[in-house]
Amino acid sequence: MSFSSLGLHADLLAVLDAVGYQTPTPIQSAAIPEVLAGNDVMAGAQTGTGKTAAFAVPLIQRHLARAPSDKAIRVLVLTPTRELAQQVHQSFVKYSQGLGLNAVVAYGGASINPQLEALSQGCDVLVATPGRLLELAFKELIDLSTLETLVLDEADRMLDMGFIIDIKRILKRLPASRQTLFFSATFNDEVFALSKTLLKQPKLIEV
Ligand code: AMP
Repeated sequence: MSFSSLGLHADLLAVLDAVGYQTPTPIQSAAIPEVLAGNDVMAGAQTGTGKTAAFAVPLIQRHLARAPSDKAIRVLVLTPTRELAQQVHQSFVKYSQGLGLNAVVAYGGASINPQLEALSQGCDVLVATPGRLLELAFKELIDLSTLETLVLDEADRMLDMGFIIDIKRILKRLPASRQTLFFSATFNDEVFALSKTLLKQPKLIEV
């Protein structure tokens, strides 16, 4: 399996080559076609499997099909921690070098002003922790009405950290017709229950 056989744009293939990725990892081979096809995905994947590129790469590919002037939040990635938010944001930046995608990261415990400044430059992909996302939404500092894809990264940790109420509040503010990508390292009843409320006919991926 190669990245080119997954139907990726030449510019994106060039970036992946430049960052030194030669072949997709199993989760990437499985998830990239499903995300590109617009399907919901429920994936069991640990950190270190390449799960970030498994959602970031196809979402960047979709961005390439849009007009360059089209700056609106299309993707929201929710993460349980500030550190993961920063890592995922850096991955989007790395995989979209030179491709005109604006990724912004927002997390709590830090001043909101630099995050607002970054948002004001135009944001295609917002990576955020739940509390700060809600603050931005409640204060109407972001417009989520254009959202196409929601990614929940490390959903199990999000539940362990008590974010269920925040997640439900966020969901109420998102367009109902959207793609949802659900990643979790472990699955228990609570994780399944959350996935059921979020996903429509998901493709199951286990690596
Ligand atoms: P993740 O599971 O997303 O945290 O990724 C784990 C590590 O694997 C990161 O350091 C990535 O840069 C790296 N990685 C992801 N995809 C690939 C790939 N296809 N080939 C080589 N390294 C990769």
